Amino acid sequence: MADKNLFQKILDGEMDAEMVYQDDLCGAFRDINPQAPIHVLVVPRKPIRSIMEMEEQDREIIGHLFHVARRVAEEEKLTGGYRLVINNGKEGGQVVPHLHLHLLGGRQMQWPPG
Ligand code: 5GP
Repeated sequence: MADKNLFQKILDGEMDAEMVYQDDLCGAFRDINPQAPIHVLVVPRKPIRSIMEMEEQDREIIGHLFHVARRVAEEEKLTGGYRLVINNGKEGGQVVPHLHLHLLGGRQMQWPPG
């Protein structure tokens, strides 16, 4: 089996992170380098590399990530709105090669992003 990546180790409890949600399909934890007052990563347990590598049977998992992000946003009281981001591949700004949804909130977001 391939070595576990960073996010697999966090989800398996082998590396520390401030977890805010967990279930059978995914986990959510605070980003170590937050870009907003609230910055949570929602990560599937299945190590899908990015949306570019997602398979048809992953649709349910990826839909679930958005549902969990909404739940966390409600728990974090982001009533004024928030931003959901998935960076994909090098030009998409992805650094960790394990699909993850960024939940960013608690400040006014700007557009366009960098
Ligand atoms: P990407 O650029 O791949 O979309 O986002 C990766 C995110 O993972 C970055 O926002 C980065 O701060 C976060 N990150 C990297 N290493 C760690 C870590 O060890 N723990 C946590 N909680 N977040 C991390």
